[in-house]
Amino acid sequence: MDMTPIRDRMVEHHVTRRGIRDPGVTEAMRTVPREKFVPPGSEEFAYEDAPLSIGEGQTISQPFIVALMLEKANLNAGDRVLEVGTGSGYASALISRIARYVYSIERHEKLARQAKERFEKLGYRNIDVRVGDGSKGWAKAAPFDAIIVSASAPEVPTALKEQLGLGGRLIIPVGRGEGQRLKRLTRTGATAFEEEDLGGVLFVPLIGEDAWTATHPMYTATAPSGCASE
Ligand code: SAM
Repeated sequence: MDMTPIRDRMVEHHVTRRGIRDPGVTEAMRTVPREKFVPPGSEEFAYEDAPLSIGEGQTISQPFIVALMLEKANLNAGDRVLEVGTGSGYASALISRIARYVYSIERHEKLARQAKERFEKLGYRNIDVRVGDGSKGWAKAAPFDAIIVSASAPEVPTALKEQLGLGGRLIIPVGRGEGQRLKRLTRTGATAFEEEDLGGVLFVPLIGEDAWTATHPMYTATAPSGCASE
């Protein structure tokens, strides 16, 4: 079934009408088949503006929030971008249609493998996926023009700030539960960053050495409902 009209409608209703104007972002969303990034049987829900379960207790983020994060990252065609939290691979796929190269890191081996397979099938060759703790970034590939973190951290991990190039943008949800805020940090000097608050969000936790621990009571007691805006 050709999903193009449904995809176009999703971009119109849930992305452009809600204020996302960056043509690179909207074009990428019209191009990348989100239905190929959801588990078999969930394809019919792929174009609703909602997070969906992808296994391992994780979610593919809500399209509007992904669009907002990418627009706020001010991506350019020549950029090298790090995504922390590959998940299904959907956001990395979108970034790969806008920027030069994507480094994508995921802590769940199974999700990373599935994302890699999707990229291969779709012929997206400018994405490198690695299994690991993204709270430490990807030092060997730094500096990055932009870093997108798709899970919520207790505070902005130092390594991610250090791995931003001058002028680089870091988009990251920070905080716990329903108190999470989406932040943009722009590197303006060797140790200087401009920080902006982009609004309330609800993401799964970033779990790692410089983030939450997997056994944090907040996350074992009640699972967050996924990656969505408030
Ligand atoms: N961007 C993804 C997409 O388009 O499907 C959605 C990401 S999902 C909301 C968050 C992901 O972050 C999960 O797959 C989770 O396993 C991953 N994650 C959490 N902590 C991580 C860490 N320290 N390093 C790498 N990935 C992490």
